[in-house]
Amino acid sequence: MAIAWIMQCLLTVTPPTLRGPVSVARWSAEWLELVRSGTISSTATLRDGRETRVGRRGRYLVVLRANRALRPPAAPKLGWLPPHDEATCSFCSGPLRLELRPMVAQALLPETGRCWDVHFNISPMEPNGHYLLVPEIALHANRRQQRLTTDDCIDLVLIGRACAGELCVNFNAPRAGASQNHLHAHAWAIPEAYPIATAPVLSRVEQRIDVPEELPPDLCFVDGREVEACVLDWPASCVRLAGGTAEAVALALDRICIECPCHNVVLLGDQTFVFVRSPEGEVSPAVPDLKIGSIQLLGAMVVDTAEQFEAAMRDGSAIERALRDTRYDVNETLGQLLARVAASLAPRA
Ligand SMILES: [Zn+2]
Repeated sequence: MAIAWIMQCLLTVTPPTLRGPVSVARWSAEWLELVRSGTISSTATLRDGRETRVGRRGRYLVVLRANRALRPPAAPKLGWLPPHDEATCSFCSGPLRLELRPMVAQALLPETGRCWDVHFNISPMEPNGHYLLVPEIALHANRRQQRLTTDDCIDLVLIGRACAGELCVNFNAPRAGASQNHLHAHAWAIPEAYPIATAPVLSRVEQRIDVPEELPPDLCFVDGREVEACVLDWPASCVRLAGGTAEAVALALDRICIECPCHNVVLLGDQTFVFVRSPEGEVSPAVPDLKIGSIQLLGAMVVDTAEQFEAAMRDGSAIERALRDTRYDVNETLGQLLARVAASLAPRA
């Protein structure tokens, strides 16, 4: 029944348009048309009494979206996802497979010649647009697990830059918020600057991250092109990369992802945020049953239930604790990791 309903919705979507460069304006126009037609329920179109609630706790935002307000609470699927298997992957096979879904667009990246399929997300994180980005699924080699390759890193950095100021492009690894083990990223409209935008660069030791008194050099050099890389003073473990060419940023990003396989990557224009995660910290008792992914790590606690909203708002430190619980816990500090990554990328003398 539910599947039939979803398929009916999907089939009413405008037929796929042409392959072309990233165009947020065109994607948005398609999105608004779907909301108007009722295919996607946004906050504006819900009529069943559920309300969107927005609160602030210190520097953090707490949001319960009506379209995502589930009762009873969704039970998060935790633990490692099963290996990618084309026969059982719901993106590759079965009645909901992506090939059957009309696309918003195909984003062609002239710099790499690669193409990403852009789909609507029918349970949007943001009412003004939420897209699912998947490497062109018609190519068999793209039917693969949720792990970024170097090429994926380059593509996502390019897409992030092409969407500067308009969309937040992001990736959740397995055990870091991903719910599907098929390579995919998200892009959604940015309602306002995220709280992490004002986070200072870390300058002292705190908690599980044992950052040395002397911070390592915060620049890594790739082929002589500078990428600014720093550890942020933020409750979650976060490295911010900025500036440099897309390739240089992508190489640093790729290296960090290999070193720390449990991670989230967020691309906001020419800033790349990499959150290094503990595999045990996908949910935190501070905000029960909420799978913490990219948006929460930015300081915008988008929650699924009234209970989670109340938990986040009730206690002034609940959000800090939830973010802190995501931190990686290894002997090496994030600063040391970054210094090692920078050294490995430095050009040979
Ligand atoms: Zn698949």
